[in-house]
Amino acid sequence: MSLGAPIIVVAGPSGVGKGTVIAWARQHMPQAWLSVSATTRAPRPGEVDGVNYHFLTPDAFDAMVRADAFLEWAEYAGNRYGTPLQPLLDHAAAGQPVLLEIELQGARQVRERLPEATLVFIAPPTWDELVRRLNGRGTEAPEVVERRLATAREEMAAAREFDVTILNDDVERAGAALVDLLGSATTK
Ligand code: 5GP
Repeated sequence: MSLGAPIIVVAGPSGVGKGTVIAWARQHMPQAWLSVSATTRAPRPGEVDGVNYHFLTPDAFDAMVRADAFLEWAEYAGNRYGTPLQPLLDHAAAGQPVLLEIELQGARQVRERLPEATLVFIAPPTWDELVRRLNGRGTEAPEVVERRLATAREEMAAAREFDVTILNDDVERAGAALVDLLGSATTK
């Protein structure tokens, strides 16, 4: 499959600030389109269905898997997450640079299915800082934080699989690096 528009996959451990870096980049490059994932996770306070995620029941998620409606999907910390394929195809066909914010297993699937995609790893300044950010979020139970940290350890070890690493020590600098990539990435 080749889409004819830049596809940038942003991954990195939970708590690293992927969302903040992406938000900065989108403000400075409004033509980029951010994929809205489907998930079986419950909404966090303030999250809006169709904006942050499409919040699905497990059955509805299964139906999409069966219909082959995901570019990729994965299980993460007890919930499932997937990238709906059709909207991505539509926006890429319209020539918009496409951004995906997904976890490691999904990024690996995109690499297989869309070798032209650029895989970007967002790295925390230090491990301690990541632990601090994850705890500081305050929206998750301690065992959920523990689970996310265990996964984060695995994700950190996979950084070398990515095409580019952006250190998130400063959101403006990291966001600008992402904008550069969105502007310069072509179909490899
Ligand atoms: P959260 O529950 O914190 O919103 O997301 C948990 C993890 O799932 C994050 O690492 C996030 O990037 C990832 N994620 C979000 N959407 C998708 C998706 O569509 N596919 C995959 N594989 N991971 C996703």
